[in-house]
Amino acid sequence: MEYAELRRRLVERLVREGIIKSRSVREAFLKVPRELFVPEDLRRAAYDDTPLPIGYGQTISAPHMVAIMVEELELEKGLRVLEIGTGSGYQAAIMAEITGPEGIVYTVERIPGLAEKARRNLEAAGYAGRVEVIVGDGSKGYPEAAPYDRIVVTAAAPSIPPPLVEQLKPGGILVAPVGDRYMQRLVKAVKKRDGSLDARSGVYCLFVPLIGEYGWPG
Ligand code: SAM
Repeated sequence: MEYAELRRRLVERLVREGIIKSRSVREAFLKVPRELFVPEDLRRAAYDDTPLPIGYGQTISAPHMVAIMVEELELEKGLRVLEIGTGSGYQAAIMAEITGPEGIVYTVERIPGLAEKARRNLEAAGYAGRVEVIVGDGSKGYPEAAPYDRIVVTAAAPSIPPPLVEQLKPGGILVAPVGDRYMQRLVKAVKKRDGSLDARSGVYCLFVPLIGEYGWPG
């Protein structure tokens, strides 16, 4: 079966299950070719709703988990987004599709080889101009381009890294898996005018660890 048909079936299922809720997320999932973000020998599994290995012991998150995170972010056209944990670059492409040419997605990856691969994937999928991939410890954020309207962490953090709160605009939304190495809950937090966070814990999840100064030791 063609990738476009497999993609359509997956999106239909995520809509039916109530995971994809908004039109913008649905359209982005229909547009971004996940097969270009997984290793070539795993392309036939690109539209299974499961995480897949991408090398260096890391994974591309399952489509339903990307959908949950992106829905929680309440993305709109023109927003400045920071992602911590580029991985394959797939989620960055989904977010860039929603924020449009007037928006920008910065994404930080600690493993240089993965960042390079993600740049190539993004280029192949047509998102190179809208996503900037940075190599570094994203637990410290990316102060060079702050402040951000939205921040998403795609690796498990022991707690929300304080630099990310600083780099978020008042009224901005942060989404991150927070917990121990074996189980986390997806936290959604809105930054209040006084600089504090209004946070609530959502679904249980399992992510690879955020390794860095405000994450876990490597
Ligand atoms: N969003 C990615 C995608 O669409 O493919 C999946 C991300 S994967 C689950 C988590 C990524 O976070 C891994 O690539 C890992 O190397 C990265 N990571 C872990 N700690 C990090 C840190 N301190 N700074 C930046 N990236 C980090």
